[in-house]
Amino acid sequence: MKIIQTNFHFLEPFEPLEKVQNIIVHHSSRKNMTAEQCHEFHQHKRGWSGIGYNYFIEKNGDIMEGRGQHVGAHAYGHNRSSIGICMTGDFDLEMPTNEQWTSFLWLSGYMMKLHDLHPHQVLGHRELEGVKKSCPGLLINLHEVRSQVMEYLQ
Ligand SMILES: [Zn+2]
Repeated sequence: MKIIQTNFHFLEPFEPLEKVQNIIVHHSSRKNMTAEQCHEFHQHKRGWSGIGYNYFIEKNGDIMEGRGQHVGAHAYGHNRSSIGICMTGDFDLEMPTNEQWTSFLWLSGYMMKLHDLHPHQVLGHRELEGVKKSCPGLLINLHEVRSQVMEYLQ
């Protein structure tokens, strides 16, 4: 599996990540949003530099690079020390595709090795303090996510 490089134009220079403490899981909460549409949305509607996630996983499992190994804009207070992985879809209503899930496990495993992380450091966005939204979706059981990540690593 591989990470697909994108050539999104960001408005501000990238900043290096600090010591990565977490992987934070998100959904796009929009059923068919692509990485490119997300980039446009974050830049033009949110007024950010560009796509806020470090990586974005399409329905077909393609892993698109967003901010990569640079500071993102996806989890207030945690952007400097986490990798934000977004799977596209509205997981309040639908589950990730098998292709997305396979890619997510691979990418999480890769990031965990790169940053020396353990499964308990994989968090859903809604598990962060002060977060009111359901992200990464009501259908996603984060204990199950962590145990599948652990299983994948073994
Ligand atoms: Zn989120």
